Amino acid sequence: MSFKDLKLIKPLLKAIEASGYTEPTLVQQKAIPPILDKKDVIVSAQTGTGKTAAFAMPILQLLFDKQDAPRRGKKIKALIISPTRELASQIQQNFKTYSQFSNLRTFVIFGGTSIEPQIDVLKKGVDILVATPGRLLDLHKQDYINLDYIETLVLDEADLMLAMGFIDDVKKIERLCPENKQTLLFSATIPYKIEQLAITILKDPERIDV
Ligand code: AMP
Repeated sequence: MSFKDLKLIKPLLKAIEASGYTEPTLVQQKAIPPILDKKDVIVSAQTGTGKTAAFAMPILQLLFDKQDAPRRGKKIKALIISPTRELASQIQQNFKTYSQFSNLRTFVIFGGTSIEPQIDVLKKGVDILVATPGRLLDLHKQDYINLDYIETLVLDEADLMLAMGFIDDVKKIERLCPENKQTLLFSATIPYKIEQLAITILKDPERIDV
């Protein structure tokens, strides 16, 4: 199978070529089609399988309109929640790479660092936001983040978020996003508590195991 078979559009295919990827990994083959169909998914995949691109590429594609023009604007349209600043930064780096042939703006926010520069960027407008739970809630509470226009929410490394005690924050963030959004849950393992979380927040999800 090729990336073209996955019906990815030109700006993404160009970025994939620039990255030197020759074919989609298994998780990309399985997850990209249902995500492009706007379905909720629960995916069990380890780091190293190419799982970040498996959600980043279709999310970017969904941010292009029917004429393949990127829908850049002031509103945050995709939100990715990650448990640590290192993981969040890696995700942001992936989005930057795959969106290099568009003008979509991605940004990452995390705690333990000065909040002012983050506020400055948020004020200018961001299309895709990657965040750790605490800093996101903090900036939302201070009214620098509006989650009313989120179209896709990703919960990455959900089992790690559970282990780190972020589940209540994650649930809170999910409730702050619109009801009709698409939700993607990625986790290395799917323990009972993650399954329960999925039942609560995902709508008729497709389950993908790799
Ligand atoms: P991840 O599982 O998202 O942490 O990705 C692991 C690594 O695989 C990253 O360094 C990606 O750049 C790389 N990668 C992602 N997709 C592909 C692909 N289709 N072919 C080759 N490498 C890839």
